[in-house]
Amino acid sequence: MTKPLPSWHPETLAVTAGRPDEPGAPFNTPPTFASTFRDGGIYGYGRWGNPTWGALEEALGLLEGGRALVFGSGQAALAAVLETLPVGATVVLPSTAYLGTRGLLADLAARQRLQTRAVDVTDAPAVLAGIQGADMLWLESPTNPLLGIADLATLLSAARQQGIPTVVDNTFATPLLQQPLQLGATAVVHSATKYIGGHSDLLCGAVVTRDEELLSNLQARRTLHGGVAGTMEAWLALRGLRTLPLRLERAQANARILAERLAADPRVVATRYPGLPTHPGHDLAARQMAGPGAMISFELASSALADALVGRLRLVVGGTSLGGVESTIDRRNRWPGEEDVPSGLLRLSVGIEHVEDIWQDLAQALGPA
Ligand SMILES: *Cc1c(COP(=O)(O)O)cnc(C)c1O
Repeated sequence: MTKPLPSWHPETLAVTAGRPDEPGAPFNTPPTFASTFRDGGIYGYGRWGNPTWGALEEALGLLEGGRALVFGSGQAALAAVLETLPVGATVVLPSTAYLGTRGLLADLAARQRLQTRAVDVTDAPAVLAGIQGADMLWLESPTNPLLGIADLATLLSAARQQGIPTVVDNTFATPLLQQPLQLGATAVVHSATKYIGGHSDLLCGAVVTRDEELLSNLQARRTLHGGVAGTMEAWLALRGLRTLPLRLERAQANARILAERLAADPRVVATRYPGLPTHPGHDLAARQMAGPGAMISFELASSALADALVGRLRLVVGGTSLGGVESTIDRRNRWPGEEDVPSGLLRLSVGIEHVEDIWQDLAQALGPA
């Protein structure tokens, strides 16, 4: 594999990491479609390992500053991390977070596998009170779908002092905007389905950690539970990652402009974007992130108005999920489990189209002033 220089920037790592460097080798690690390998080599059976995963793992590990393991989806990665906990362990989780995370933890709690405590992760004193005696702190920042910002440095170091392992879901920020391992997190989880894949055509997940014991435990979970990434998906995810810096730069530049216009629009009740000075987590985001990202949530006065807006859009696609090249929008409160978010809240995943085309579409769909 290409050996990175310590001076290389993330943009360079995204392009070069996980590439073979032997004379005559293809530029990129090709997808290896194999359920089983001939005896005598490094790979044995396809559930234990595949060179295509290795290339993606190398790239994600370099970008996050740890060692990565890829899984079949973000949920498989999350589940593997939680499965390392003993029965009855207490997990502190964000009260608003990705629905799949909340759903998985609620399911594990209902079956007495784990206990959970929900805290508002944007309220550092509340989190510090909540982690007393806990076995894991699970964080998400920015949070889904409210885009709240958690004070990662404070929370991660407090948990570390108490010997509580910490996990940060870094899906919204990507390693280009935020590197939680550097701030003291035990592990980072990703839904590579989103920004890393970036083209809304695959499911993939990853965990990254510097803790060798956790890494081998997670590897055992992956092999025993079988939540492995497909060869094609892992290959496409790395192909997507190659252009992540460019895609994110454009999407974020678009998001800054759109957030300002939405915030200034009388038809919009509230705009949540960490890049806006009015956002309560603005200063914190400016300190701990390299940029505010490309997710915007904004509120209309009612769910009916929000649904009507989605119905009138011609460019921005109505649908859940995020992080693709195309702009997508989702009225979150329609989903069971998100009744606690404002009913007219729309989560916009800003894509890489021309910003004026996205704005024109949103402006016409917002309807008469
Ligand atoms: C989508 C998502 C997940 C789950 O990932 P899948 O790839 O859908 O399994 C976890 N966390 C966040 C923040 C997500 O957006």
